[in-house]
Amino acid sequence: MSRADRRRQAKASGRGAGTLDGLRKALETASVPGTPKPVLDRTRAILLTYFDTSVMQGKSYTQIVKELAEGLPATGIAAVELQQGGTPPGLACAAGCAFCCILTGDDGGTITEHEAKALYTALAPLAGQSDGRSWHPKACPSLDPETRACRAYERRPMICRSYVSVSAQACEKVSMEQDADGPGVLAAQTTYLVAHSLARVALKGIAKVNTFGMSEIAQAAVEGDSEAEALKRARHNPRSLDDERKRNTEGYLSALGH
Ligand code: SF4
Ligand code: SF4
Repeated sequence: MSRADRRRQAKASGRGAGTLDGLRKALETASVPGTPKPVLDRTRAILLTYFDTSVMQGKSYTQIVKELAEGLPATGIAAVELQQGGTPPGLACAAGCAFCCILTGDDGGTITEHEAKALYTALAPLAGQSDGRSWHPKACPSLDPETRACRAYERRPMICRSYVSVSAQACEKVSMEQDADGPGVLAAQTTYLVAHSLARVALKGIAKVNTFGMSEIAQAAVEGDSEAEALKRARHNPRSLDDERKRNTEGYLSALGH
C-alpha cells in the first residue's frame, strides 16, 4: 500500500493528523529531547487532560489546534501550577520593586503568541506615553517609570509571574550584569516551556507554533505599531524555544543537585 493510501485510510478511520484522534495520538507520542522523564510525563498528562476537557466541551479540531499553537494551554497549565504551589517563603518581591524588569538579556524572555497578543492589547492604548525606559534605559516598556509598577500586570507573561527572588539587592546586582544568588524561576516556567514544546512537536506539519521576544512586543505596542507589525517584529527564530527550554532545564536540574 502506498503512503498516500495509508494516509487516506488513517484519515477515514479517524486517526489522521487532521483529526482529533490523530492530534491526541501526536500529543501522546511527541518527544522533547533533554527533558527529564518525570517532567515530560507529568506535563504530557496535564496537556492531555486539557485536550480531553476541550473535546468534552465541544471545541472543534480547528479551535484546539489554534489554542495549542498560540500557547493557551501552556500558559494555563503553568498558571494553575503557580497557584497550587502558593507563594514560596522568604521572597523579597514587593510592589514597586522592579530590578527584575530591567531586561539585561537579548529580548526580555520567550513568550507565546497568546501572551504576546495579551501584552500588546494591554499596552497599545498607552502608546506615546512615557514608559519604563525613562527610569532605566533597559527597563521593560510595560513599566510605569514613576511608580515602577507593571502597567500590564494582569496580562504579564509567565516569565514575569515565575521569576522571584529572596533578595532585592541580588536582583539589583543582576540588573547591573553582576552575578548574585537570590533570583530564579519557579518550576512552573519549566512546565510552560515543556508544554509549549510538546504542542510544537505534535503540530508539526499542521500549524506553526511561534514564540516572541517580550521586550520587543512591548516596545512595538508603546511605539504605536499595529498588532500584526508588532508580532512580526518580535517573532523569534524557531530555535529560540528549544534554546530557552534547554537553559531552563539545566537550571532545573542544577537546583535538584544533578
Ligand atoms: S524578583 Fe527581585 S526585583 Fe523583582 S520584585 Fe522580586 S525581589 Fe524585586
Ligand atoms: S511585563 Fe511587567 S512584570 Fe514583566 S518585565 Fe515588563 S514591567 Fe516587568
